[in-house]
Amino acid sequence: MTTATCSGAIGSEAAGAAFKDTWTLVTLQDIWADIGPISSRSKERIGYPTQKPLALLERIIKASSNEGDVVLDPFCGCATALAAAETLNRQWIGIDLSSLAVQLVLSRLQKAADDGALLASGWLPEVHHRTQTPRRTDVGKLPPYKTHRHTLYGQQEGHCAGCKHHFALRNLTVDHIVAKSKGGTDHIDNLQLLCGACNSMKGTISQAAFHAKLTKQGLR
Ligand SMILES: [Zn+2]
Repeated sequence: MTTATCSGAIGSEAAGAAFKDTWTLVTLQDIWADIGPISSRSKERIGYPTQKPLALLERIIKASSNEGDVVLDPFCGCATALAAAETLNRQWIGIDLSSLAVQLVLSRLQKAADDGALLASGWLPEVHHRTQTPRRTDVGKLPPYKTHRHTLYGQQEGHCAGCKHHFALRNLTVDHIVAKSKGGTDHIDNLQLLCGACNSMKGTISQAAFHAKLTKQGLR
C-alpha cells in the first residue's frame, strides 16, 4: 500500500500543474506513525476507552476491501470500524457482547451523519439489530456427533480435554465445546472428550469459563 505526500500548494491552475510533479509515493511501513491517537480534546472522541482513530480504520478498510463488500467487526465496541465502513460505502456487520452496543452504534452513525462524514450513503442506514445466537449454516448435514468418539480419542491421545488425565475410551464422553443450546454445532471442531467429572463441571458454560474453573480447582 502507498500513501501520498505533497510538498506544494495549489494556488492556480498553473500551480496545479506544477503540483502534480511534486507528489511522491511512499510505501507504508510496518509501523504507521502518520495517524496519531485521538487527543483528549478531539471532536472525534466519544469517551469509549479503546476508541481507535477513524482515519486508521478507514485506511485498513480501504486497503482490504472494495465498495459493496461486507466488513465484519466481531468486537465492534464503539463502532469506529462500522462508521468507517459506512462512510466508505461498504456493507457491515458488527457484533458485541454488550446489550448497549446497538445504542452506541446508532449514536456513532448519527454523529457521523451529523458531521457530514456519511458521504457515500448520504443518510443514516437502516440498522437491523438481532439478539438471537448466530448459527453456522455452512457445515451442511453432519453425522451424529458421537461417531467422532474414536477420532477425538486419537486426537487427544486418550486424555480428558479438561483435567488432562488419561482414561480408557469408555470413561470419556463427547462434549460440545460451545453448547448446542448456545449455537454450537455437531462439527468435530466443536467437540471434545471429557471425563465424567469434567463433563458435569462443564455443563453449558463457555470453554474459557470451564478452563478458569479447572484452574481455580487446581485441576489444570
Ligand atoms: Zn477430566
